[in-house]
Amino acid sequence: MCRRCAPRAIECEARMEPVIGIDLGTTYSAVATLDSGRPFVIPSRAGARLTPSVVGFTPRGERVVGARAQILGDEMPDRVAPATKRFIGKRWSAELERAAKLVVPYPTLQGPQGEVRIKVAGRVMPVTQVSAMLLGELKLDAEAHFGRPVSKCVITVPANFDEGQRQATREAARIAGLEVLRLLNEPTAAAMAYGLVNSFEGRALVFDLGGGTFDVSVLEMDGGVYEVRATGGDPQLGGDDFDARIVQWLVAQVPDAFRDAVTKDRVSMQRLRYAAERAKRTLSDQSEALLSIGELGDHASPEPRYCQLDTALARSFYETLSEPLTTRCLDVCRQVLEAAKLSPRDVEAVMLVGGMTRMPLVRELVSRFFGRPPLSGVNPDEAVALGAAVHAAELASRQGRTLLIDVASHTLSVGVLGGTVRRLIGRNSPVPATAKEAFLPGRAGQRQARIPVFQGESEFADECTKLGEVVLSELNVGNRADVPIEVTFELSNEGTLSVRAVDTTTGMAEALRIEARTTLSATEVDALQAEQAAYSKDQAEKDKALALQTFPRVLDKAERLVRLLEKSAEEEPSEEADAAVGEVKALLAQGRVAVRLGDTAQMAEVTRLLERLVDEA
Ligand code: AMP
Repeated sequence: MCRRCAPRAIECEARMEPVIGIDLGTTYSAVATLDSGRPFVIPSRAGARLTPSVVGFTPRGERVVGARAQILGDEMPDRVAPATKRFIGKRWSAELERAAKLVVPYPTLQGPQGEVRIKVAGRVMPVTQVSAMLLGELKLDAEAHFGRPVSKCVITVPANFDEGQRQATREAARIAGLEVLRLLNEPTAAAMAYGLVNSFEGRALVFDLGGGTFDVSVLEMDGGVYEVRATGGDPQLGGDDFDARIVQWLVAQVPDAFRDAVTKDRVSMQRLRYAAERAKRTLSDQSEALLSIGELGDHASPEPRYCQLDTALARSFYETLSEPLTTRCLDVCRQVLEAAKLSPRDVEAVMLVGGMTRMPLVRELVSRFFGRPPLSGVNPDEAVALGAAVHAAELASRQGRTLLIDVASHTLSVGVLGGTVRRLIGRNSPVPATAKEAFLPGRAGQRQARIPVFQGESEFADECTKLGEVVLSELNVGNRADVPIEVTFELSNEGTLSVRAVDTTTGMAEALRIEARTTLSATEVDALQAEQAAYSKDQAEKDKALALQTFPRVLDKAERLVRLLEKSAEEEPSEEADAAVGEVKALLAQGRVAVRLGDTAQMAEVTRLLERLVDEA
């Protein structure tokens, strides 16, 4: 922006409603916005670019989110809820609880709609509420940045999120008081950020290794058109699995007399997991990590006895430990390339996403496999939020410069006789997609037809996930061929499925009742919304008080800057030097007006523009 335009920009940008992009990650989350055409990560009020996706409750009942919750979890793992994205929109089952026990410190429970709830600090909460608390915190960070309310956003989700998981994410946003302009697939978001920063157009592969899952997408990017050619992944492969390898190695070093108690104790296991995760991150920059873990034992025992573990992990040994996992990553790349009918050399840019891609071995394997180094210029753990911000701004401005052509992340089928399924929309079909097929009821004389709808790659119904069923009644079936039932699947560009079945003899139609959907009751959503709104109001007031208290320091800095600029204008007079003085003086004047009016939005704008001037100086 031209320096002379700064004061005008205040008026202009202040009038526009801010929009944000949110990466709601399993391990870390981030919020970003577009500033003068460049995507920009909004720092949290604690000053960090990434917010740990952890919610906790102190012994005094105070809610803590992000880094503070992570610190609380170090001491009191039973008071925090990390990695809840693993369960969002899923149906609870005993199997899910068994798997959860290995990776999270809290028990999972079944909710009234079959949804997953968790027990943390003695509270039973729906997983969507935890996500809403995280989203709410990011919203507050954005509001502190802009000095005014923010509600419009784009939220990213993994490409392989199903209908239920997408609905639950929208529900969490609703509870947090956010209006979702669109749910955007994470790889597409990352490609938008990399594309913008590197001015890249062509065939790209997004390699996204996060905390819980691994996703790969191949996209064609051409003049604002993002066309996904194929997508795939492994939902059980992420940073947590790398941590689990280290934990296994640590458990083997626990003295024999304690090992059994330690492996059965949630608190001890969480301590080992935290230490493993920290060591893993250290090994991205150093060749050795030292680990010192205390209080390992049975915390539930009335007279607990603890042991201490001190050890060192070399990067080379860690790479050997994680080799089966890195091999699986490349297997997934091969499968996705095969689906897109491409070879590794056809890929013109590799875009790394997710904190795990900071691991040197991952970068090395990727470079070797594709025969080129990955694209740089964007932080892999910020790419998704930055891309979401780019798309949010695009949707808000309604300029229609971007076209997203995504693909179906799962095969969608109808269950037929013999326990098998008939595929209507195949995985990797471009969306939106429509498919129609006629089915004949099972037997003559049947009055009712149940048409089960499945999602999954197997040809056997019991190996797929049942989404729900369409029930057509009052059929009049003389013999089977009399009543063809026409089933239509419509998959929207956001991955939402609608199904209709029509009795072609009478024209009677029914729509799908989605059983896999685990949304909460309207009354509960209202109550959770009210709780979140009260919390946010309280926090926003505290943030406003803090902004009013700290802004005079920004003005002091601006005054010092004016004096400096005036001095250099005297020493070396020029039109530019005079303009620079005028510009800071104008901002200073705007800032003083903002203080008089208590206008935090204006204060935020003045701060932002002053920072930009200092950066450009
Ligand atoms: P994401 O889901 O993208 O937030 O990725 C989080 C995962 O990346 C977690 O498993 C983190 O432990 C891991 N991670 C974050 N930073 C690093 C790092 N510097 N080196 C290795 N792994 C990291």
